Amino acid sequence: MELKLYDTLTREKRTFAPLDPACVRMYVCGPTVYDFAHIGNARPVIVFDVLYRLLRHVYGKGRVRYVRNITDVDDKINARAAERGIPIRELTEETYRNFKEDVAALGCLPPDVEPRATEHIEEMKTLIERLVAQGHAYVAEEHVLFSVPSMPDYGRLSKRPLDEMIAGARVDVAPYKRDAMDFVLWKPSKENEPGWPSPCGIATPGRPGWHIECSAMSWKHLGETFDIHGGGIDLVFPHHENEIAQSRCAFHTGVMANFWMHNGFLQVEGEKMSKSLGNFVTIRDVLKDWPGEVARFNMLRTHYRQPIDWTVRGLEESWKSLDTIYGYVGAYGAKADGAGADESPVFSALLDDLNTPKAIAEIFIAMGEGRNPQEVACGMMILGFSLDAANIASKRQVDKHKIENLVAVRLEARKAKNFAESDRIRDELAAMGVVLKDTRDGTTWEIAR
Ligand code: AMP
Ligand code: ZN
Repeated sequence: MELKLYDTLTREKRTFAPLDPACVRMYVCGPTVYDFAHIGNARPVIVFDVLYRLLRHVYGKGRVRYVRNITDVDDKINARAAERGIPIRELTEETYRNFKEDVAALGCLPPDVEPRATEHIEEMKTLIERLVAQGHAYVAEEHVLFSVPSMPDYGRLSKRPLDEMIAGARVDVAPYKRDAMDFVLWKPSKENEPGWPSPCGIATPGRPGWHIECSAMSWKHLGETFDIHGGGIDLVFPHHENEIAQSRCAFHTGVMANFWMHNGFLQVEGEKMSKSLGNFVTIRDVLKDWPGEVARFNMLRTHYRQPIDWTVRGLEESWKSLDTIYGYVGAYGAKADGAGADESPVFSALLDDLNTPKAIAEIFIAMGEGRNPQEVACGMMILGFSLDAANIASKRQVDKHKIENLVAVRLEARKAKNFAESDRIRDELAAMGVVLKDTRDGTTWEIAR
């Protein structure tokens, strides 16, 4: 059994060997909590959940430590809290609660540790002071900046030509920077902004830059060097490049993580998601119309490194596929306990850099050949679908067209003042897990979670 993963740093698929097989350590950059997460944000959560499940299957449940942080100090958070007239903590708590509910509905396990940036300020300050003491950072106008020229092999992860990086950095060069590429580790806070006592003898209270947060939290919970660091492809530069610079320079290590994994981007109906285009889709929006497992399946039909086009058509196909699989597994009443999973082609596909589309194709091949449903069930289990018989039965009853039909018939009954009939339909829908909401503008429905 050999797990291969693609590493963005070395640009190759390599055999994965943990530093310590008794504790496989993975860090994934989590959300900045100021608003509902969009369906693009769901991608790394689902992808790394599958990897987490796979690692737990290979190395043992208690032998994987998955850390996903919460960025709860950020200028976007300050701005949104001011806009809504609520305290920052209230905004971050509310957003975090929503995020947790959303990703649970997508079938994702909670990570082992979910550290908050605001609870790791001391670790950040320790790192910053170390970097200054070692000549990798300097204080200027109450800021602390990382000195990029102090690290000779800066830029290895993104492999961007230096002149391109410099040109990018020049767009907004603060006068206190020694070099256009230098980036902020700590900055002063104004009176109405959250602030903490500053490091390095700076008198004004301040707050950390974004990159130092992840260096501090991964250090605290996983150590100076760990196995896997993940996130979306947009984080490669500058975020991950700068995390590497901070951590490697602070600890004098050759690597921060042995494998750097990045998921490709998601777009919606062929277009980049944006508020101005009106195609901005939150996870909440998706869950109003589709069961969580349909959304999960739809995400996993594409390999994690490929771009994904999120479409209603894809969701409909996913629903059909899922229904076929549930039907197959359910008909045999299989109990998915993972036994024998290791020999299946479904499992081999996942071991090959998390090839979920191949795993799904193998599931269909297994069904086509009438193979043991246990094999299909085990594959689905590692992909994160729960398959106990009761669950399957209730899921299979959820049919969007049937629901909409019933909602329409109930509306007719109400118009005709046939309340006995309309109540009967409401009960029938409730039994299917559908909750109705009657408003002045009509009736909406959602699947109870
Ligand atoms: P953010 O809150 O913007 O820092 O994003 C949280 C996570 O979602 C990061 O790992 C991002 O790389 C990822 N992400 C953001 N937008 C997308 C997208 N459209 N497609 C895939 N991943 C995304
Ligand atoms: Zn990060």
